[in-house]
Amino acid sequence: MDERTNEIYSLLDARFSNAGCELTFSNHYELIVAVILSARCTDKRVNIITKDLFKKYPSPKALSMANIDELQQAIYSCGFYRNKAKNLISMAQDLCDRFNGVVPDNYEGLLSLAGVGRKTANVVMSVGFDIPAIAVDTHVFRVSNRLKLVSAKTPLQCEMELRKIVDKDKWSRIHHLLVLFGRYVCSSRSPHCRDCELKKYCDYYRSKGKE
Ligand code: SF4
Repeated sequence: MDERTNEIYSLLDARFSNAGCELTFSNHYELIVAVILSARCTDKRVNIITKDLFKKYPSPKALSMANIDELQQAIYSCGFYRNKAKNLISMAQDLCDRFNGVVPDNYEGLLSLAGVGRKTANVVMSVGFDIPAIAVDTHVFRVSNRLKLVSAKTPLQCEMELRKIVDKDKWSRIHHLLVLFGRYVCSSRSPHCRDCELKKYCDYYRSKGKE
């Protein structure tokens, strides 16, 4: 990594030394369900929902046969529940029909599952299978651009640019660091710039005339 990227990484690493996945799961099937539910929802809320959900639907087979009304009710509080319920059932059917109920450990397989986009696939790859990957959510996208780590117009472009400048063995970790930094410091509408040790790297900070 170049010096600038390395400094940013080190400062984030020092601030969030315990960074990691905050979703609760005990196998790959539970992980992929939790990640699908986490779209536009907090991990905390997902963990509350999945506590009972995984008891009721403990396997892809059980989820593939779920009654959609019951499933919608079970996941109602995480938002977008109609779409998520439909996708979860289709994803579970795909797993049973084409993967013998086993979550695949590669992009091709993961992206072929209903409701699984690149962000979900990257989280499953890195968190579930320990394969280097950078999932780009709204926090990673915003913070990477503000810090000029990338100059990206789309999440995919952001992922590809980050892959180029960050050492491969740090891909999974920088995802978690940028998520936490975006969630707790560099929020979308009111970032805590006063307390931010990264302001000297920040385009957004300069553009707001704060320096
Ligand atoms: S200075 Fe403000 S906008 Fe820039 S990275 Fe820090 S918190 Fe975010």
